[in-house]
Amino acid sequence: MPPTIIENADLRRLNTFAVPARAARLVELDETAGASEALAACAGHGPMMVLGAGSNVLFTRDFEGSILRVRTCGRRIVSASGDEVVVEAQAGESWDGFVRWTLAGALFGLENLSLIPGCVGASPIQNIGAYGVEMCEFFDSLEAIDLDTGAQRRFDAPQCGFAYRDSVFKHGQAARWLILGVRFRLSRTARPRFDYAELRGELARSGVAHPSPDQIARCVVAIRSSKLPDPALLGNAGSFFKNPIVDLPRAKELIDRHPGMPNWPASQGIKLSAAWMIDRCGLKGAREGDAGVHDRHALVLVNHGSARGCDIWALAMRVRDAVHQRFGIVLEPEPTIV
Ligand SMILES: Cc1cc2nc3c(=O)[nH]c(=O)nc-3n(C[C@H](O)[C@H](O)[C@H](O)COP(=O)(O)OP(=O)(O)OC[C@H]3O[C@@H](n4cnc5c(N)ncnc54)[C@H](O)[C@@H]3O)c2cc1C
Repeated sequence: MPPTIIENADLRRLNTFAVPARAARLVELDETAGASEALAACAGHGPMMVLGAGSNVLFTRDFEGSILRVRTCGRRIVSASGDEVVVEAQAGESWDGFVRWTLAGALFGLENLSLIPGCVGASPIQNIGAYGVEMCEFFDSLEAIDLDTGAQRRFDAPQCGFAYRDSVFKHGQAARWLILGVRFRLSRTARPRFDYAELRGELARSGVAHPSPDQIARCVVAIRSSKLPDPALLGNAGSFFKNPIVDLPRAKELIDRHPGMPNWPASQGIKLSAAWMIDRCGLKGAREGDAGVHDRHALVLVNHGSARGCDIWALAMRVRDAVHQRFGIVLEPEPTIV
């Protein structure tokens, strides 16, 4: 099936902030085999950008080039050896649908990552994570095509450079890849992970001492549904800022100066809570026109209705400046800013 091409495309329904924006050209890829044709349809029409479900992107303006929207579907078991099963999903598969498919097949590992919006193809970009688990822990490899040359290549985990909400695909030349499909290494043996305080607490309240992966998934879904605004009702992209990671001396100094500051050990230092800092700056629930900071979750910026991307961005800069002034920390946005 040839890719669908739409000129002067409306992007409002293609981003979960639901901000108005247009793309000079939108090319929709429905079959992996059509990737080269889709790239050819984008070429020569200005800059190129890949879009999945638009749940981690903020359009602050129109895009004067081609957006390649990935809608390819398909998932399968690639190989099984003893306890370990390698599964693969095409980039346009819904992430949550894929997680549910793995659990229905009694393949375990991804249960803590239930209900994260977006597509499988975007999951390696920022190494999605939630409730004490990161995607990279179960990642096997991915297949990608170079947007400029059309050359296809497989990346293993070290080549992806995964870190906290980060990978090589977020930076420089490596951002020039269209991810076509991702493989994960899952287990037939359940190894439930519920060391994350909120998850542990919720399971304890439900009287579950030894949760199954399905119970963990249900608990994660319940927590997320009660805590995070549904983008279908209130435009947002989940956490707008990454939690900052600082070295130990800096963390000690900050904690001495701001007693009660939440902190956790992280692989590269000490992770601090961006939400706590934003709250301490008095910005939880702040609103400028229709751009707002969510009133129950300070890390989530929202569109109350008619905010434009530049309004959300202006509010984000106000939040960043306030946190910098009070804590000396520069918050880094998590979504892709266009
Ligand atoms: C309510 C809510 C809760 C969220 N909770 C979490 C959470 O708990 N943890 C978390 O990590 N994230 C979370 N997110 C962020 C988001 O769901 C993830 O980042 C998700 O992986 C984005 O997928 P997407 O398909 O929507 O990507 P998009 O928003 O379409 O794209 C994001 C970036 O990935 C690139 N990209 C997308 N697909 C491809 C591809 N096939 N090849 C190459 N590049 C590609 C885009 O160019 C862009 O730079 C949340 C978002 C929302 C709205």
